[in-house]
Amino acid sequence: MKILTIHADFIEFEAKKKAFKNAEENIKEGKERVEECLVVFTAVEKRDEENVKAIVDKYVQEIKNIAQQVSTTNIVLYPYAHLSSALSNPKTAEEVMKEAQKILGEKYKVTRAPFGWYKSFDISCKGHPLSELSREFSVEESKSIDGGKGTKEVVEKELTQEEINHLLKQISRSRLDTSKLKDNDHRIIGKDMDLWSFNEVAPGMVFWHDKGLIIKNILTEYWRNVHRRSGYQEISTPQILDKKLWLLSGHWAKYKENMFITDYEKREFAVKPMNCPGGMLVYKASSKSYRDLPLRVGELGLVHRQELSGVLAGLFRVIQFTQDDAHIFCTEDQLEEEVGYIIDIIKEMFATFNLEFHHIELSTRPEKKIGSDEVWDFTEKALENVLKKKNIDFQVNEGDGAFYGPKIDFHLKDSLDRTWQCSTIQLDMSLPERFDLTYNDKDGGEKRPVILHRVVYGAIERFIGILTEHLSGKFPAWLNPTQVKIVTINDDALPFAKDIETKLNENNFRVELDGRAESLGKKIREAQMQKVNYILTIGDKEVEKRTLAVRDRIGQNKFDVSMDTFIAELKEEVVSKKL
Ligand SMILES: [Zn+2]
Repeated sequence: MKILTIHADFIEFEAKKKAFKNAEENIKEGKERVEECLVVFTAVEKRDEENVKAIVDKYVQEIKNIAQQVSTTNIVLYPYAHLSSALSNPKTAEEVMKEAQKILGEKYKVTRAPFGWYKSFDISCKGHPLSELSREFSVEESKSIDGGKGTKEVVEKELTQEEINHLLKQISRSRLDTSKLKDNDHRIIGKDMDLWSFNEVAPGMVFWHDKGLIIKNILTEYWRNVHRRSGYQEISTPQILDKKLWLLSGHWAKYKENMFITDYEKREFAVKPMNCPGGMLVYKASSKSYRDLPLRVGELGLVHRQELSGVLAGLFRVIQFTQDDAHIFCTEDQLEEEVGYIIDIIKEMFATFNLEFHHIELSTRPEKKIGSDEVWDFTEKALENVLKKKNIDFQVNEGDGAFYGPKIDFHLKDSLDRTWQCSTIQLDMSLPERFDLTYNDKDGGEKRPVILHRVVYGAIERFIGILTEHLSGKFPAWLNPTQVKIVTINDDALPFAKDIETKLNENNFRVELDGRAESLGKKIREAQMQKVNYILTIGDKEVEKRTLAVRDRIGQNKFDVSMDTFIAELKEEVVSKKL
């Protein structure tokens, strides 16, 4: 069984048309709306047919757990076939959901969306970290825990050729099915341009090919440059950390279901889902004085968060990703100025990609919160003051802040008019307490610093997905994994073409030479498919004059260009990050 739970402000749905003949009868007509609820999108699977009672028990237990964590008593069970490609027969699925409704009904208010119908729905998902969770479970799981010993023997035994063939077939099955994707989908562009791929053996994780990694590395380097000159330090903290740390940070209680847990020398560890706790330990590694503040510390940390693999969508929803996190430790007096500096960085970086802000939100104190009202008054006001001082239009989301502090979210608009939330600035009143962070003030007394968490890209992987579709794969020269493609008209042009290649390589450009004995038309078409910035066509005339014929991406041609001119112009284009 696979479920996706959404803690929602509301869901509104309507049955439109039967999906198959035996769809549920006597259903409610018209729109149904449920407010403040936990929506459980559910796909019952083939393997659940084995033991319906056991799967219902697990299903109910999971829902109860999540409902308790988000404290709601309103449940919406929503059949959702799209979560799985191995669905059970409809009869079992309907039975599971009705049975669960009955059991949950004893304690909760339960609404069940009709089974076997095409439905439309509108949902508003809340913004807290637990508002969106996914789970997968089956009856087999419990069996394999009891009979776990058997598994090891199988692994140690030599594989037969038949078993090898079977495994090979399984790992080759991850070819991209492009039939349902738009042309400019980053998964298609990534395949055409040989940037990245995905394989079922690592759900939600990216296989970076050489050219995709070039883009990722350049974006990382750009981030580093901006932050270095803005006074940031950079750190790197371990990938797996003892349970103790996560108990202290609160993740073990609130976020455990989404963490990968492992063990080592009989101690429990978690693979980090966030960089913050590691960052706190670096702060604590030495005593701090007011002279050290503001302390701006960044970490491009690789984090892992468990999500349901069935709902993953290329780079847009990943289990493993690089978060461009940073923590600012400062005094209350420095708070406004620091928030202002972060906004400047966010603005500068997105302008480079020609991405505009769609809207900006300030989220204020929620009902469940830590810290006194005076502290919230101060922190909310501080964030608001900065936005006003910078003449930034913003909307206020009353009550949508985290329990530990208010935040500002930045929503971007891309070339396809879609909006994306990437950057956030979040104030944290909890971690300094939890980790007992202090600094020595001017008067010699110990004080707590204020912490700001902030990301600009958010997840670099997701940002690359957005950028790829925003640009339709037409990366500007500073980012393009192949900036120049040299194509030869005949074999006589090869020696000169090789000279050009060497010269461009020496100047740190990314260049490829196509010296195959194919037709010029074909070679140019392929170079265009690759979306290179410039195609240099080399024939007899160019060899004789030692000049270049340059074709840009719009198809404009320039002839008799000297090598020095071409190099100087391309350098300028790269340095200025021209779009
Ligand atoms: Zn953080």
